[in-house]
Amino acid sequence: MTEKRGKLVVISGPSGAGKTSVCRVLKTDPDVEFSVSATTRPMREGEQDGIDYHFLTREAFEQRVAEDQFLEYAEYNGNLYGTPRWPMDAALERGKTFLVEIEVDGTRQLRRRGVRGLYVFIEPPSIAELRSRLLRRGTNGAEEIDQRVRIAEDEIRAAREQVDGAPLYDRFVENSDLEATIGHVKELLGS
Ligand code: 5GP
Repeated sequence: MTEKRGKLVVISGPSGAGKTSVCRVLKTDPDVEFSVSATTRPMREGEQDGIDYHFLTREAFEQRVAEDQFLEYAEYNGNLYGTPRWPMDAALERGKTFLVEIEVDGTRQLRRRGVRGLYVFIEPPSIAELRSRLLRRGTNGAEEIDQRVRIAEDEIRAAREQVDGAPLYDRFVENSDLEATIGHVKELLGS
């Protein structure tokens, strides 16, 4: 008997909305496999190559684009980010839930290609709260925080757009309380 095919789950949300914390918990489920993206952005303290991202030079990234190695890729805040193609099929064939954490432009590409899955957008209760979370996190300088808040406003707007007459995201989850949000997303994954 063949195993039941797994499910793709796309998680997006502005920087500081809490999606990385949600994904960190979801990753501990043995039935969930997490996509490790490639990126040209510099490694942050505490990050590990091959675990948090595959850190590439722009040249190496562009080479992979030319070889059609990405399921989708996008530029975010001056850096390139992309989802390697093959791990998703391998995971779905083994009946796993395959989790990708990507921004809105990449999601649009997946929708346009008709990639089936559950598309979830995690958002902050307000822009003011988002800014204070980014400040508390302390991983970005003041200028980058302004930039990320601006991108967040655009992403929250863009997330409501339609793609080919259908909604871009299936679900919107407001993260006011992390534990509750994790519970909510887990429920969505199980459904
Ligand atoms: P960060 O630099 O904070 O790790 O990520 C910046 C943004 O890039 C986040 O919104 C994150 O979800 C998004 N991102 C990470 N990996 C990918 C990817 O493979 N493709 C796309 N389109 N976005 C990604």
